[in-house]
Amino acid sequence: MRKKIVAGNWKCNTTLQEGIELAKAVSKNVTEKGAKDVKVILAPPFIHLTKVVENVNTDRISVSSQNCGTEPKGAYTGEVSAAMVKSTGATCVILGHSERRGYYGENSEILNKKLAQVLENGLTPIFCCGETLDIRESGKQNDFVKKQLDETVFQLSKEDFSKLILAYEPIWAIGTGKTASPAQAEDMLSFMRSLIAEKYGKEIAENTSILYGGSCNAKNAKELFSNPNIDGGLIGGAALKPDDFLAIINAY
Ligand code: PEP
Repeated sequence: MRKKIVAGNWKCNTTLQEGIELAKAVSKNVTEKGAKDVKVILAPPFIHLTKVVENVNTDRISVSSQNCGTEPKGAYTGEVSAAMVKSTGATCVILGHSERRGYYGENSEILNKKLAQVLENGLTPIFCCGETLDIRESGKQNDFVKKQLDETVFQLSKEDFSKLILAYEPIWAIGTGKTASPAQAEDMLSFMRSLIAEKYGKEIAENTSILYGGSCNAKNAKELFSNPNIDGGLIGGAALKPDDFLAIINAY
């Protein structure tokens, strides 16, 4: 049985002190009132990782970075390797977020190097894909997402692929307040699951958690999560508000 997951991506928000307070508030909420069958993940900025790990109930919450470097170590000023992420106690790494692809030029070649680092270090990749508004309007979203997957995660062995969490995040829905309709999200996730089944077999497809991300909030989470192929959410803005984040966790 695949896991239900709610992951919060804090992006470039919160100072270290604010991040510690947010982590404590989320941890208190999750420990006291959070649905026990939902896996909760927090993805703060790199420099918060150690402190967030120290300040959450790690029996209930896993910690993730939002990115990592392509190389294991060396003269790469400003980079943070997967091994460094692991040394903080974090266990997951978000890869391929559309903001990384769009603003920092992360293409499939770069993402494959990062995927290799994350897997080599025994971390869980949370791998994002999703189309722009133009592509959605031209009706080519399935072809586009298939290509993103073909060039990256579908290059992995069956064993490595089975360690992944996937997230479908249509770019037009991220931070825009414009959520994909439950039907649009379910259609894409069901399509992605069919691609996984074709490539790796039905069992792996049934066991892969696929999240929806894009303006998911306390109001729309229930309707989105009630669909059979939507295994949870990758949450941006609403993850910065402990009560909204709890409401999303409890939307199942
Ligand atoms: C995200 O960036 O992963 C995201 C889903 O953001 P938001 O919820 O703010 O749209």
